[in-house]
Amino acid sequence: MNLSELFEKNSKVSAINSGQGKKTFLKKKVFSILYVEEQKTIADLCIPIGVSIPTITRIMQELKDEGWVTELGTGESRGGRRPVYFGLNPGARFIVGIEITSKYLRINIFDLKNRPVAKTVEKETELKNTKVFLEVLKAEVEALISRQNINKSKILGAGISIPGLIDVKTGTSYSYPSLGEKPLYQVFEKLLGIPAYIEHDTKVMALGESWFGLAKNRSNVLCLNVGAGIGLGMIIQGQLYQGHSGFSGEFGHIQMEPNGELCDCGKIGCLETVASGTSIVKKAKQKIEEGTNSIIRKAIEGETEKIRLPNIISAAKQGDQFAIELFEEAGVYLARGLAVLIHLLNPEMIILGGDMAQAGNLLSDPIQQKLNKYTINRIRQDTVIHISELGEQAVLFGTIPIVMTQILSQEPKINNHNN
Ligand SMILES: [Zn+2]
Repeated sequence: MNLSELFEKNSKVSAINSGQGKKTFLKKKVFSILYVEEQKTIADLCIPIGVSIPTITRIMQELKDEGWVTELGTGESRGGRRPVYFGLNPGARFIVGIEITSKYLRINIFDLKNRPVAKTVEKETELKNTKVFLEVLKAEVEALISRQNINKSKILGAGISIPGLIDVKTGTSYSYPSLGEKPLYQVFEKLLGIPAYIEHDTKVMALGESWFGLAKNRSNVLCLNVGAGIGLGMIIQGQLYQGHSGFSGEFGHIQMEPNGELCDCGKIGCLETVASGTSIVKKAKQKIEEGTNSIIRKAIEGETEKIRLPNIISAAKQGDQFAIELFEEAGVYLARGLAVLIHLLNPEMIILGGDMAQAGNLLSDPIQQKLNKYTINRIRQDTVIHISELGEQAVLFGTIPIVMTQILSQEPKINNHNN
């Protein structure tokens, strides 16, 4: 058995009894440590793995011969020979990251140092038009893999972020039933010919923040995704919180206005109907048609249908009173919802992400101000609010942990009695 087989999805390896199997297991341990910590000497690796220097030396030589690791250079001598640092060969394996939204696709490939190997591919396509969507996805993924000259056997898997309700137990989508009754990962594996791992978009954003963004090395963080809709990814005690069926985080559908507007979900007055990008755009169109004065009018040449969220953000940043007030109003509602979460969960940080977060402090200031009003002082002081630094990249980067947490957790057990 070689290391590649151990990385296969749903690897059947459950117990390793032979000497060969144990060696593969040790290689996996080395791989995991080098993936997380980037560089180690042989002496550094002995302690966490719990084997002797000659054993690790042999293992490293084999991993080098097989192309998994490479020498990075030598460190300072501590009296004897200079120690050699080893790291993963970044091109030994790759991950395909796919961000699916209702309106567009984003795709890139990442190496083992989590670096994108190409410029991100962006393609407009409607998810609800399933047949065309799947054709476009397949063509774009295959074109990118072939442009980068990567053999499919070197792809550990595709991490796929998808919007809407997904049942984690059955793996099916409730929001896009036309994707089929089979678990989504099977649909995408058949389509792309590579292992696929699926996660809900807002949870992917939280994973991105947790591995690469402001939530790194933090245990209790709420990641708010305010875009077309409003979602919440929760890192609780260091883990992504799923809930019973994976439906956790539907923050956008708590009721704010009992006599409000009808939401996409079928309920009345949801947070999404008063504080999402969609709701702000709708309100801007309405008010400008009614004659409200705003510089947005100039950017759209009088055609209110042309108003998009970036127009409103840009106007607000230029000091447009009307645009600023739209964000203030949304901020009040978001703060009312967040106050409940702060009282319930006592998070150390709330990260504001999604398209609306591009408004920066024009959104975060009103939220902060209202939180001062709505929350108990002692509890609120524990929580800092930040605009995401990863911004629109958070989701695509979050596709890496979808794949890697599965790969790294596939650990066979060693049956010591037979060794
Ligand atoms: Zn709703």
